[in-house]
Amino acid sequence: MATGLISHAACLGHVTPAGHPERVARLEVVLRALSQPEFHSLIRSEAPRASREALLRAHSAAHVDAILGAEIAEGRFGYIDGDTSMSFGSREAALRASGAVTAAIDAVVAGELRNAFCAVRPPGHHAERDRAMGFCLFNTVAIGALHAKAVHGLDRIAVIDFDVHHGNGTQDIFFPHPDLFYASTHQSPLYPGTGDASERGASGNILNAPLPPGAGSEQFRTAFERAILPALSAFAPEFILVSAGFDAHRADPLAELRLDEADFGWATREICAIAALTCSGRVVSALEGGYDLDALGRSAAAHVRALMEE
Ligand SMILES: [Zn+2]
Repeated sequence: MATGLISHAACLGHVTPAGHPERVARLEVVLRALSQPEFHSLIRSEAPRASREALLRAHSAAHVDAILGAEIAEGRFGYIDGDTSMSFGSREAALRASGAVTAAIDAVVAGELRNAFCAVRPPGHHAERDRAMGFCLFNTVAIGALHAKAVHGLDRIAVIDFDVHHGNGTQDIFFPHPDLFYASTHQSPLYPGTGDASERGASGNILNAPLPPGAGSEQFRTAFERAILPALSAFAPEFILVSAGFDAHRADPLAELRLDEADFGWATREICAIAALTCSGRVVSALEGGYDLDALGRSAAAHVRALMEE
């Protein structure tokens, strides 16, 4: 069965101020990398808009209304915090980014795709129930997880997050739910400052594996092999979502981990191997960070190549 690639041109319409690392060119580089001949067998589709109902499963009405109600003139920015802003096209981009994940889940559950990658922005994993932050407006993977439960009746949903930053938003939304599992490798100390190993969720459903600045392939793979993968297997997920940030790459300007694209391919294969055993290979991945354009393109290609091997 095939791997899906879901995106939407509107995700290029979320414009950030000059010099901002989370920029339009990131998605252009990812889509260019995935246009190479080896990726021609991907099943490509356009993301729908997420429904308000889908957004409200992960976010408060006040937060959803604040993002959807923001009126930003073309060429202007509305600042949410020092890092996070909205442009004229941000609302549509955020709706399509979240809609990509819910549509990908629908297609995988329906058996139309084995797995899928959502090439979208803005990213999502820092967005908490009540607020946007860290370049993120809506928490795309959390919206996906709650959609999988509510619409498809799936019980246990896991998110694996290998972005170099801790996904505080996903942790925030998942924290009280024993049937939502969140596991993250991330650099510590680093923005946003959460993700200590002592943060375990209401029922041990959170697993944080912080890595020190300078950690490379060996430490990353050890954290996966000793902590994340065994816990993921033990959770026996019915669906696995991946917060696929590629900013743990050694070339990335925002952090100091030293991974390369082969590590992202390896992690993806390991996640897919567990998915094959526990949930018929059902994996949907969404782009989070990754700020060195060349490394981002190569890393996304390695990730999708691994999804296609399954
Ligand atoms: Zn990141």
